[in-house]
Amino acid sequence: MLVIGLTGGIGSGKSTVAELFRKRKIPIIDTDILARELVRPGQPALNEIIQTFGDTVIHKNGELDRQTLARLTFQNESARKKLEAILHPKIRQLMTEQINSVSAPYVIAVIPLLIEAGQTDLVNHILLVDCPEEIQIHRVKQRDNRDEQQIREILNAQASRQTKIAMADDIIENQGELSDLDAKIEKLHQKYLLMSQDET
Ligand code: ATP
Repeated sequence: MLVIGLTGGIGSGKSTVAELFRKRKIPIIDTDILARELVRPGQPALNEIIQTFGDTVIHKNGELDRQTLARLTFQNESARKKLEAILHPKIRQLMTEQINSVSAPYVIAVIPLLIEAGQTDLVNHILLVDCPEEIQIHRVKQRDNRDEQQIREILNAQASRQTKIAMADDIIENQGELSDLDAKIEKLHQKYLLMSQDET
């Protein structure tokens, strides 16, 4: 199965782009959703996280306290690596299961930190959603009501636009109107349909 890895910085438009592929009946595997499922109460990954980071990372009701975990791992490489060592193999396994369970010419795997986390071997082709940082900040501010400083910190912790562009096989420029996007996705969809014929 041809696996297209859809990536891009915070607020670049990954979910928006994924929706346009979904509209074309292409299955979407969202690694953020897989990661959230993995850390539900009772799941082995949550127990490993508690053993590694302590009880402070769970709420009284047993659910993961994402903000506390993010605070402990953000900009702390060794803590982040420990968290990745718990989650990544399990995400890989779930991804493989999902890929094997669908029947489609190709799948889109949304992997926000595809490049940063060195997960490029999971995919056959990298599709980057790119736009200027000021637009990313503006969109996230509007969407989440988050303050600018916080968004800039997240942006700075992600790979630079240049690094991502250098790694990408295809790039969607998403700085224009939403209505411009559909035609770009249709073009890529046709290209991936053709590519998928070579896979079989
Ligand atoms: P995150 O990394 O934070 O999950 P994302 O990359 O999935 O974000 P989206 O959620 O798709 O990004 O887009 C961020 C916000 O910008 C959303 O509110 C979305 O509706 C809006 N948006 C995306 N593309 C455009 C566009 N071309 N024009 C205007 N708004 C857009």
